[in-house]
Order: sequence, then structure tokens, then C-alpha cells
Amino acid sequence: MPDRSFLAWPFFEDRHRDLAERLDAWCAANLPIAHDDVDAACRELVAKLGRDGWLKPTAIDAANPGPLDVRTLCITRETLARHDGLADFAFAMQGLGTGAISLFGTPEQQLWLERTRTGAAISAFALSEPRSGSDVANMEMTAERNGEGYILFGEKTWISNGGIADLYVVFARTGEAPGAKGLSAFLVPADATGLTVAERIEVIAPHPLARLSFEQVRVPATALIGKPGDGFRIAMSVLDVFRSTVGAAALGFARRALDESVKRTAERKLFGAPMAELQMVQGHIADMALDVDAAALLVYRAAWTKDMGAARVTREAAMAKLFATDKAQDVIDRAVQLHGGDGVRRGHIVESLYREIRALRIYEGASDVQRVIIARQTIA
Ligand SMILES: Cc1cc2nc3c(=O)[nH]c(=O)nc-3n(C[C@H](O)[C@H](O)[C@H](O)COP(=O)(O)OP(=O)(O)OC[C@H]3O[C@@H](n4cnc5c(N)ncnc54)[C@H](O)[C@@H]3O)c2cc1C
Repeated sequence: MPDRSFLAWPFFEDRHRDLAERLDAWCAANLPIAHDDVDAACRELVAKLGRDGWLKPTAIDAANPGPLDVRTLCITRETLARHDGLADFAFAMQGLGTGAISLFGTPEQQLWLERTRTGAAISAFALSEPRSGSDVANMEMTAERNGEGYILFGEKTWISNGGIADLYVVFARTGEAPGAKGLSAFLVPADATGLTVAERIEVIAPHPLARLSFEQVRVPATALIGKPGDGFRIAMSVLDVFRSTVGAAALGFARRALDESVKRTAERKLFGAPMAELQMVQGHIADMALDVDAAALLVYRAAWTKDMGAARVTREAAMAKLFATDKAQDVIDRAVQLHGGDGVRRGHIVESLYREIRALRIYEGASDVQRVIIARQTIA
């Protein structure tokens, strides 16, 4: 039985506690699903999550707009991640992929949100390039003004949902100024002529990932999200909302690792008694529980601060993401250790958590980038 005591913390309202209960029951009945074909699995997960209403918080309701509720996003990611990493991924990408449209889109662009919130369309966020991952301002992809529209040229890589998405929010250099001030954001439908999947990328915790090629992709001026030159600000605003949710997913993985370890050490006998009676085992369990609670405090502090109307939560979100993902890695590593040989057996839950957690310390700003952000904010 997972620890739910954190839901009594003052960060939450009754609607969050209710969501956590209902979603946990839904997950127990519907997850995990087979992952043999990740494209098919993701499509199925988006369809199921959409059908049962869980995707609604990923984007604003254009007919009745209000701010995105970051605590809802975090509780949902934490709960899904505890049950099935791919379900968390499917949910998270519907939000990250449409964040720019929720925050800065025109009414026409926001028509897409009806489809992503119901699972009828899959979205993706295309920022990274082969030569600009952490160094976003060094982006090379161009969007040249041409008559009434733009022509996009270049490459994006590491794009989650690449190949299965129906729409991509793409960042490109429009050149209003050098560096970060010369980027813009565009809504590009997957069937745009000249947009192709150049490579599918396989990773240790499989999910749909691709390198995309944009060969003279023409989009109308109405594809521009926000103003020309606002792309960097838009990308950072989206990450400001969604970065703490990466911490929440890590928290879900860590909670599962802790739960599995508690169960295992109670059941497994060593030297004539349950493992859990060995003091050094208790030391591991104590450190794991401490890391989980400390991560939860930082994640939900960031989410609550944003929900209370803070314009930016750059420092809080960076702390939440850095701490929760790094500590989840430690918690899961201890879980593998406590499971002995079974911990590295292919297909065992802690073995899959060990693979799942790693990328979270790299994407949406690597751990070292979060340290840079925290240091800058602290010194300033
Ligand atoms: C599974 C996965 C899914 C992804 N999904 C998406 C997606 O959907 N959309 C998208 O646009 N991108 C996505 N990415 C890309 C991801 O955001 C980049 O991989 C990440 O930003 C790091 O960029 P890079 O790989 O080019 O590494 P680099 O930028 O080369 O960085 C390498 C390492 O250098 C260190 N480093 C970087 N900057 C600093 C610094 N200032 N100070 C000290 N050390 C530093 C960090 O340890 C970092 O890990 C995904 C990546 C992965 C692995």
C-alpha cells in the first residue's frame, strides 16, 4: 500500500486528494499494458487516458480558460509513474507538447487542444537539435519569412513522440536578434510537406523518440505561436510549468521502488529472519523514505507556488527537478541492491525502474543545468 500521508499536506485541496484516489484505482484496473510495440502502446495509452478524462488537465479548456493546475499535473504524473512509466510518458507529452499553445496560442491554434485533451491527437515538443541540447540559444534550425508565411529548414532530435505525433510545437531561428532573442515557436502539423522522420532513436527505457528533418517546410503566418523573437521565452515558460512535473514522475518511480523494497525485505528471509530485521537494511529503507519525502516536499512546494499565481517558479522548479530525479536514482539503486539478483533480472519491476529513471536527469534541462539555474538565482 503506497504512502498517501503526503496528501494531507497543506499544499493540496480536496479535489487533489480525490483525484489521487480515483486515478490510483483506474491505474490498478488498467495498467500496465504490454510495451512490446512502444508506438502502439503509446497510442493505446493516449486513447485510454483521453477516453476516461485523465488528459483534460494537460492543456487549457479553450471554451473556459483558466491556468494549468500544476498540482494536478504532478499528482497525475506521480501516480501514473508509480504504475507504468510509459503511461506517465503518454500523459506528460500531451502537456509538454501543447504547453506553448495553452499559454500563448491563438483561438485558432487552441482548437487543437480539444483533440489533445481527449486523446484524439498526440503532441510533441521539438526544441533540441544535434548541436544544441542544453545550449538552446545556439539553435541552428531556421524559419525564413516568405510571403505570407515561413519556411522551416533544419533538424530536431530526441523528440519524444517523434513519428507518432499529430502536431509538433517547433522552435526555430527567425533572426530578430542574435542568440536566444532571435527564436520563434511554430505549430506544425505532422503531415506538413517536407517534415520527415530521419531516424528512430532507441533508448534504455523504450518510448517513441525520433530525429526529425525539416526540408523547406512551409507554414502559414498563423502557425507562429506568440510573437516573432519570443520563442526562447515561450520555451522557458513552458518548462517553468512542466519541469516540476518531471520531479513528480521521478517521485512516482522512487515511491514504487520503496514500496517494492518494503515488501521484499518483509517477505525475504535471511539468516533465519526477515531481511527487514537487519539494521543495515533498515538504514537503506530509512534513507529511501527520507529522500522520497524530501523530494515530495520540493515538488509540491514548486507546484503549489505556481498554482498560487507566481509569475515564474524557475528556482523552485529547478530544485524540485534536480533533487527528485537525482534522489530517485539513489532510491532505485538501493532497491535494486535490496532485491539481490532479482534486482537486475530483465523484466523485474525494479530493473525497469532503474532504466526508466535515468533519462529524467538529462531531459528538460540536465541536472548540471538545474544547478546552474539554482546558483544564478541564489547569487542574484
Ligand atoms: C529520453 C529523452 C527524451 C527527450 N525528449 C525531448 C523532447 O521531447 N523534446 C526535445 O526538444 N528534447 C528532448 N530531449 C532532449 C534533451 O532535452 C537533451 O538531451 C538535453 O537537453 C541535453 O542536451 P544534449 O543531449 O545535447 O546534451 P549536452 O547539451 O551536450 O549536455 C551534455 C551534458 O553536459 C552537462 N552540461 C550541460 N550544460 C552544462 C552547464 N551549463 N554546466 C555544466 N554542465 C553542463 C550536463 O551534464 C549534460 O547532461 C530528450 C532527451 C532524452 C534523453
